[in-house]
Amino acid sequence: MARSVAIIGGGIAGLATAYQLQRLRESGADLAFTLFEQSNRLGGIVETHRQDGFVIECGPDGWVTDKPWARELAEELGLADEIIPSNDETRVTWVLRDGELLAMPDGMRMMVPERVEAVMHSPLFSASAREAYAAEPGRAEELKASAPDHDESVADFVKRHFGDEVLRVVGAPLLGGVFGGDVERLSVRSVMAPFVSMEREHGSLTLALQARAAQRGDRRAATVFTSLRTGTATLIDRMVAAISPEAILLERSIVSMQRTPGGWTLRDNLGNETAFDHVMLAAPVRVAAALVVPIDAEAASLLKIPSSSAVIAGFGYTPEAAPQLPAGFGFLSPEGEDCQLLAGTFADQKFDGRAPQGGKSIRAYFGGERADALIPRSDEEIAAFAKQELEKVLGPLPAAAVTIVRRWPDALPQYEVGHGERMTQLQQRIDAIGALHLLGNGYQGVGLPDLVRDGRAAARSLVA
Ligand SMILES: Cc1cc2nc3c(=O)[nH]c(=O)nc-3n(C[C@H](O)[C@H](O)[C@H](O)COP(=O)(O)OP(=O)(O)OC[C@H]3O[C@@H](n4cnc5c(N)ncnc54)[C@H](O)[C@@H]3O)c2cc1C
Repeated sequence: MARSVAIIGGGIAGLATAYQLQRLRESGADLAFTLFEQSNRLGGIVETHRQDGFVIECGPDGWVTDKPWARELAEELGLADEIIPSNDETRVTWVLRDGELLAMPDGMRMMVPERVEAVMHSPLFSASAREAYAAEPGRAEELKASAPDHDESVADFVKRHFGDEVLRVVGAPLLGGVFGGDVERLSVRSVMAPFVSMEREHGSLTLALQARAAQRGDRRAATVFTSLRTGTATLIDRMVAAISPEAILLERSIVSMQRTPGGWTLRDNLGNETAFDHVMLAAPVRVAAALVVPIDAEAASLLKIPSSSAVIAGFGYTPEAAPQLPAGFGFLSPEGEDCQLLAGTFADQKFDGRAPQGGKSIRAYFGGERADALIPRSDEEIAAFAKQELEKVLGPLPAAAVTIVRRWPDALPQYEVGHGERMTQLQQRIDAIGALHLLGNGYQGVGLPDLVRDGRAAARSLVA
């Protein structure tokens, strides 16, 4: 009898797992699988709205180029011609400071400059923040020696290198945009791992970036982000097309899981009970926690990971009514500014093909408590509020030809200090339960490449 696998959740994590199982089956592995998806569509947070020549991303708008796994999958799915780089030659990120948009200096990797001189001339920072930047390379030995051998918060890490102001003005809004939540609680080892390695090796993060640039020599750095011309959901559509249709069940949520001597019995919302040999649990972490409670209370308590919400409003403007926007990818709005947005993205400037020729596309992003407060409000109210907040920053905006609103409640798990250790303990419990994988954005990374990597690896491990 073929080994039977249940996949719970049809977001990118569950679909990457299903896609890999399909491939293994096609190459002879004795496997059968069923994917259960609660909603009536696949992709979870990955959703692209295409209308009248606009390509508006409702969730992720691309992925970090440094991580190869989403690109590899896209190539494998025949999407090589669709892969597009972010338009880094015009990359400017603006930061709202006392109501004014100020450009982030050139050559920054998050809050770290490759060249200190770029920061020295930036009006974004006060004289004391600039001094902190200038002093950081000279403190390399001290920073290396004082690097803690345990996890710490992003806030403590950034403050140690560059001080409070850099944390508040660029660190917090940058990380807030990716993870939502609070830099005082986020784990530096989980959300800024490459920078922790740089500190260990070089002490100074600025010197570490310079060493990397020297290694690169004359080769152009890859663009920071990558996406697909027709939107990230094309990755989802292609995976779905490659998976046997009968293996996917929509509007079918798993309501309970029971461990049996031979594997698992899953119960769905229609009351069906089905036996499986192995379960890939790729539903959001709060759902995973609820399903695991009756099986292992300690694992369930380790799964209690706080999550933050996001609300986005995307606007498409025709060439006739296209607003003038500053060059660049968009702006960040730090805490304390008179603007409720976390960020605004100039989508057609960040990636090609997001608007018809001459048109414009802007995406407003609300995070954390502000997103929670907006979630119960109607689409019209959210769109009107988003427009009002964008106008505080960009000036009057014309009527949009296309407007789209999406709510993502509790969508972004917060990797708090100690997350890595928590995951080690959780994995021990999961190994003890057996015949179970936990997949999705609650564990080893929230980005699309991480989720593709982990889903595919989990599938391969079944035949290893
Ligand atoms: C606004 C926003 C912007 C983002 N931008 C980026 C970006 O630019 N780049 C990037 O790399 N990442 C980005 N991310 C993060 C990334 O999009 C997510 O981490 C990722 O899509 C999550 O995928 P997932 O499969 O883990 O979960 P989900 O997409 O949440 O999928 C889980 C699925 O499980 C289903 N489900 C729930 N309960 C059950 C049940 N009981 N039974 C069956 N099915 C169930 C749900 O309906 C859902 O379809 C962004 C996230 C947000 C919210």
